[in-house]
Order: sequence, then C-alpha cells, then structure tokens
Amino acid sequence: MAKKKGKRKVNLSRYLDLKKVIDILCEYDLIHYDIHLDSLFNQKLYGFVDFNNKKIYINKKQSKTDMRDTIIHEMLHIIEDELGVDVDEDNVVDNSKKSFNKIYTQTR
Ligand SMILES: [Zn+2]
Repeated sequence: MAKKKGKRKVNLSRYLDLKKVIDILCEYDLIHYDIHLDSLFNQKLYGFVDFNNKKIYINKKQSKTDMRDTIIHEMLHIIEDELGVDVDEDNVVDNSKKSFNKIYTQTR
C-alpha cells in the first residue's frame, strides 16, 4: 500500500523579517481587489498568490486587522514556495498568527 506523502510542518515565521518582506515586494506586485472571487473557491477568499505572474492579491473587503493577517499569510506562502517545501495550510495559518502577534503586540 502506498503511503500518502505527509505535508511538512515548517516554522515559516522565522524567515519573515523586514528584509524578507522588502525582497518579496521587490519581486511581487501587491494588488487590492474588490471583485467577487469567493464563489470560485466556495469560501471567503481573503487573498492569494499568483506565483507565475508574481502577484499577491488581497481582498479589500476585510478589516485592517484581517488584511494585515492576510498579507502575512500570503508572504509565508511565498517563503514556503522559495524554500521548496509543501506545508499544510493549517500550519501556514498557525505561522501567520504567530507572526502577526509578534509584530502587532510588541511593546515599544
Ligand atoms: Zn493559505
């Protein structure tokens, strides 16, 4: 019996720093969209990455807090792609929450 290939758990957050964010934005366009794409995916779509055309799409119709979380999330997908690893979506969600908390709850 063929064993199903397990997706890896990777701490993507450790790669996300300001330098990395700038490097990503040097290569990718950040596009805010407000057209309805949700029906295509049968769920609310907060954002996605078009790796072939190097574009990050962010749904405008979300709170600023959610938008920040979405941008971090999509950045982590780009890092995942650059590392050549296949990470479970839940793992990406966990990592983006971790990064979000680190960035936005830091005291001055
Ligand atoms: Zn995702």
